[in-house]
Amino acid sequence: MGTATLTIDLDALAANWRALDAASGKGVITAATVKADGYGLGIGPVARTLHRAGARKFFVAVAEEGAAIREALGPAPEINIYSGHMPGDTDMIHDLGLVPMLNSVEQLTRHLEALPRHPYGIQINTGMNRLGMQPAEWLAVADIALSGAPTLIMSHLACADTPDDPMNAAQLALFGQLTDGTGVPRSIAATGGILMGPEYHFDMTRPGIGLYGGQPFEAANPVAHLSLPVIQTRDLEPGEAVGYGCTWVAEVPTRIATLSGGYADGILRAMGNRATLWHEDVPCPLVGRVSMDLLTVDITHLNDDPKHLDLLGVNQTVDDLALVADTIGYEVLTSLGPRFARRYVGAGA
Ligand SMILES: *Cc1c(COP(=O)(O)O)cnc(C)c1O
Repeated sequence: MGTATLTIDLDALAANWRALDAASGKGVITAATVKADGYGLGIGPVARTLHRAGARKFFVAVAEEGAAIREALGPAPEINIYSGHMPGDTDMIHDLGLVPMLNSVEQLTRHLEALPRHPYGIQINTGMNRLGMQPAEWLAVADIALSGAPTLIMSHLACADTPDDPMNAAQLALFGQLTDGTGVPRSIAATGGILMGPEYHFDMTRPGIGLYGGQPFEAANPVAHLSLPVIQTRDLEPGEAVGYGCTWVAEVPTRIATLSGGYADGILRAMGNRATLWHEDVPCPLVGRVSMDLLTVDITHLNDDPKHLDLLGVNQTVDDLALVADTIGYEVLTSLGPRFARRYVGAGA
């Protein structure tokens, strides 16, 4: 097969949700953030697996993403929209029963006028300055906003992957000040917030990356395994170069394998001359630049030519690979391209 295979372990995904649910504590609802096609792993199988594991509330970035979950899971699960009620989204929010997290007085007005009895939540900006009502804006409209019985009041932490950052405590304190006594369910924790402890859990947590095997959830089971087929192999003499720009030159007799997969597949060009592929437990260095569709790997030390090499798996997590390209596991996952054959394994497959 000429195309690489991305294997998605649905048992690992379910186990990660159960572990984060246990870490969220008794009486706290553990939702699931499944935006960006389930962090690149496929919204249908991801949503069905999380639902089977016990998740009943889901979060996506935009209303369009809610449609795929509705189709996969039917009418019952709650689907929440971080971007709130955008112009033009009213029909979709109504017809699919989506719950917008309203981010401004403008969105609150739009929602109450267009869909007066339709559920909504409120997002408050506690310092990340990305989404949500300003504290003063919230206080000015709180009576109106609360009169419609919102399903949730939420905010988002800017620095939850660095627990010692004083920003976390500051956001927590402000969130409490703005929402204590409202009687409405509250949520501030994503994966990082769950790991910071119970004072961050409130009534609901909304993990994303930890479900998919990424940091800061150290104990996560790896979910994505990526195996790239070897197209051909060749021997180089000392002095011969590999790839665009001839950036890597053999110093000794070298055997090179050319693999199917490149930057068009989300194997970031910044990984050129830096990343490692794996033949079972044996590391093999990526040499030369990453091309659009191809990688070149030094396999001189292997006894036999391999049929494929692994880029993601037990020996190399999304975060290990991210480090090589100065990025984060989130970007590695959501960059994984549409050309890969996606294979789902585990009980939910
Ligand atoms: C993406 C996102 C999450 C999930 O965050 P993770 O770090 O992936 O757990 C939660 N809340 C909001 C507002 C988000 O944008």
